[in-house]
Amino acid sequence: MLGATAALGTEDVAVEDALGRVLAEEVRTAGDVPPFDNSAMDGFAVTAGEAGRTLRIVGEARAGAPSARPVGPEQAVRVSTGAAVPVGTEAVVPVEQAEEVDGMLRPTAAAAPGAHVRRAGEDVPAGTVVLGTGTRLGAAQLGVAAGAGRATVRCHLVPRVAVLVTGDELRPPGAALEPGQIHESNGLTLGALAEQAGARVVRRTYVPDDALATRDAVQGALEEADVVVVSGGVSVGPHDHVKGALGALGVTERFWGVALRPGKPTWFGTREATLVFGLPGNPVSAMVTFVLFARPALLAQQGASPHARRTGARLAEAVERLPGRDHAMRVRLSPEERPPGGPPPTARSARPPSAASGTPWAIPTGPQGSHQLTSMLHADGLALVPAGEGELPTGTEVTVELL
Ligand code: AMP
Ligand code: MG
Repeated sequence: MLGATAALGTEDVAVEDALGRVLAEEVRTAGDVPPFDNSAMDGFAVTAGEAGRTLRIVGEARAGAPSARPVGPEQAVRVSTGAAVPVGTEAVVPVEQAEEVDGMLRPTAAAAPGAHVRRAGEDVPAGTVVLGTGTRLGAAQLGVAAGAGRATVRCHLVPRVAVLVTGDELRPPGAALEPGQIHESNGLTLGALAEQAGARVVRRTYVPDDALATRDAVQGALEEADVVVVSGGVSVGPHDHVKGALGALGVTERFWGVALRPGKPTWFGTREATLVFGLPGNPVSAMVTFVLFARPALLAQQGASPHARRTGARLAEAVERLPGRDHAMRVRLSPEERPPGGPPPTARSARPPSAASGTPWAIPTGPQGSHQLTSMLHADGLALVPAGEGELPTGTEVTVELL
């Protein structure tokens, strides 16, 4: 799937609009950060020396208003935090260590060379790469970019996502339900996951189980989105029209069916650079397959690493393996030595030889049916239980993809 996914183009973005965007270039410091030697404290700039000497206060340097006057051995200049320290200065005496009488200063503590002075380039020297290509810009990254002298940064385009939800039984949130109807939720969950992955939802369309309506909706979505996500209608039922519509509109099937629970009927196809995901309609299946398939693709389109953070964890209870299918089990992670509320692990399984001490426990979040969306509540991650025969005992270490 990633092999069929290309990074989108790039654009310059003002730093104030760039939260959550992904860099398409390196950011280097234009000059030293900080740009000049400055005071770390409110106090007095002085030459280095002992406590108890007497110095004449000859001027003031405030933040943004340096003093032109050099400091001589018998002299001091009043300084504010962030003010450029004058030429000749070796240290700053903080206000708290200064007695001031009649324009004279008596430091009550020795001033060692360099004390309370922040040197130019002490944070980062000029020309240093402070942010790499592919970095997602959070609060600290934006601050560092501005500190490096940037007003704009080159970023990858934001993927445009269309979410189509199919099913005659679906009613909008809050609507009264007739027999056989349910409230639509995948439009919300999938749209939210897309936005959390840095994408923009440009269209959210409800589609009845009808071949023509499905085709119309898919066509509209293909025209305006980089990624089309369809929920439901990809199984083998007589009312599943999604695959037929996609085929008729020139979307090439790359795969249909994955050895995974939940998510077996997942479908993936492409039309030129546009990606199409057909996700199962069951609400848990839809979320899990979005996380495992669509999210990495959206990250790759933004030029970011598609790999989610993973951690090792020990199963807090025995888990039956599925023959021929991996199981993405929703789990909470607990750092406790024992699975909370669970049976104490046996001596052997509690500390598998490979598990570093401090490996968290993976505690299933409750019933794991693919229609039981509450299993996603409080889930820290998806424990990836490999396919196989028989039971994995309590304490077995598994990989958990963090949500
Ligand atoms: P499907 O994949 O279309 O066969 O749907 C599988 C199950 O998921 C059925 O029980 C549907 O009612 C349910 N479902 C499908 N789409 C949604 C949706 N958008 N929101 C909530 N449940 C859905
Ligand atoms: Mg359906």
